[in-house]
Amino acid sequence: MLIKLKEFLSSDQLSYRVSENFVIDDEDFLSKTHLDKSIVFAGEFYKVDESVILNGTVMYTVKDKCARCLDEFDNKIETKFEALIVKQLDEDSESDEIQLKITDGCVDLQETIKQIIYLSMPMKSLCSKDCKGICPNCGVNLNNDNCKCEDNLTDPRFDKLRDLLKD
Ligand SMILES: [Zn+2]
Ligand SMILES: [Zn+2]
Repeated sequence: MLIKLKEFLSSDQLSYRVSENFVIDDEDFLSKTHLDKSIVFAGEFYKVDESVILNGTVMYTVKDKCARCLDEFDNKIETKFEALIVKQLDEDSESDEIQLKITDGCVDLQETIKQIIYLSMPMKSLCSKDCKGICPNCGVNLNNDNCKCEDNLTDPRFDKLRDLLKD
């Protein structure tokens, strides 16, 4: 995933917007992350003084499992990052700023985007924020089915109250 910056850098434009569909071409990475290989990258390169900065957004889809109902679902994630475009990578840099090396007027985003995806992968997700989960009694997925457990189960705390009402 190469982005050509040559024309932008030699022009007097101050910013340059890109939005592209990319395919991640790394089977190992895809199977490890359960990632859908098509991702969208959108970004804007800015000239600031002598530097060029990229404000980027990566959108990807990952096969996830809901922590509440255990169903598999497509989890769509959008994550933002900022990177500095450099001629030479500064390995000793103390800051955790992302650096992108420019070669022949182009930057290659593949490795950076893979890192961004790794770092932004959710640990625990829900298929929807209203997910009803599974019934702890019969194990039915309450998003798809209703069960009768709640009607039949009696809460022992109410037994005493019920006794009080009895004659
Ligand atoms: Zn769920
Ligand atoms: Zn149930």
